Amino acid sequence: MKRVVIFGSTGSIGLNTIEVLKYLKNYKIVGLATYSNYKKLIHQVLEMKPEYAVLVDRKYCSELRKALRGKKVLCGEDGLLEMIEKVHADTLVAAFSSAIGIYAILSAIKKGLRICLATKEILVSFGEIVMKEVKNNCAQLIPIDSEHSAIFQCLEGRNPAEVDKIILTASGGPFLKRSIKNVCKSDVLKHPVWKMGKKITVDSATMMNKALEIIEAHYLFGIPPDKIKVVIHPEAICHSIVQFIDGSLIGQFSLPDMKLPIQYALTAPERKPSLVKSLELDKIRQLNFFTPDYEKFPGLLFAYDALRIGKSMPAVLNGANEEAVKAFLADKLKFHEIPVVIKKAMSVHKPISGGIEEYMEAEMWAKKFVNSVIARKEKKCY
Ligand code: MG
Repeated sequence: MKRVVIFGSTGSIGLNTIEVLKYLKNYKIVGLATYSNYKKLIHQVLEMKPEYAVLVDRKYCSELRKALRGKKVLCGEDGLLEMIEKVHADTLVAAFSSAIGIYAILSAIKKGLRICLATKEILVSFGEIVMKEVKNNCAQLIPIDSEHSAIFQCLEGRNPAEVDKIILTASGGPFLKRSIKNVCKSDVLKHPVWKMGKKITVDSATMMNKALEIIEAHYLFGIPPDKIKVVIHPEAICHSIVQFIDGSLIGQFSLPDMKLPIQYALTAPERKPSLVKSLELDKIRQLNFFTPDYEKFPGLLFAYDALRIGKSMPAVLNGANEEAVKAFLADKLKFHEIPVVIKKAMSVHKPISGGIEEYMEAEMWAKKFVNSVIARKEKKCY
């Protein structure tokens, strides 16, 4: 029996993970954590009987404690760290939709847990630090993000010196063939291929998700930014490609279903039968690949700027994007203004090098900066 902890158990990746674990059978859930959805967490705890349950948002902690009397319930971000330190586990599935829980993840790396990472924000803001810890502790960090899972699978056993390029595929989101002027929230939240949480769905529509993924790929695989390329692939069947120095392109193809990269992160390097249907290529008939429209989606290029500048800049990109998405979902910012405020934050920020705390501060600065830009804009309007 492998013992698993899930961060973000009530979100889209968390729910898929539970389904996969039930299917694989030889896994036991020993810890569940969610940000604020305590009602769903209560159901999950009663069904899965983990040893620990953590609720990050302290607001609903007393409700959770009341409902789960007699069980080990922890609250706040400290609760995540406490659970990781106390629980006996083999694997952590990290699937929050922001970089919360970074200290708990670092502690899990030090304890030698396999990290199945869905939260790309962790690598965007703290990539250098996290990968250094992974190396120092000979830990396993396996991506769940479908593109990075694909690259991970294509690279297995290969010498990094043989890699010429990493080609990240992008479905292009809902605005691939439509204008991004005057779009409504409901258009943005309708992704043509993937069913996901709100944050990542907005990120897919602005293509900031792909920008975050360029940064994620750089840190995960140690590939320089100029060797990471993005191609639009609307069918979302090829999840990414590695181009080798001999001119060969090796890609990973499957139906777009997150259960597959989740399962592979859990079982790698072994493959097991899965819940995902096999791909019938002759039914798909056509796969398209083309260059992204960088004018329409300027955010994509921000990733290269952030990596070229380095230091705290990727954290600023991440923080500014997170706050801009939040403001958009709260009807305080228009869709096409999202990249504008991120660019502004990046141009004003003076990058610093440092550790987790400094980069967290940079993220926080970017969030406050975005809010101040929005507040000024509101004043002008009314
Ligand atoms: Mg992805």
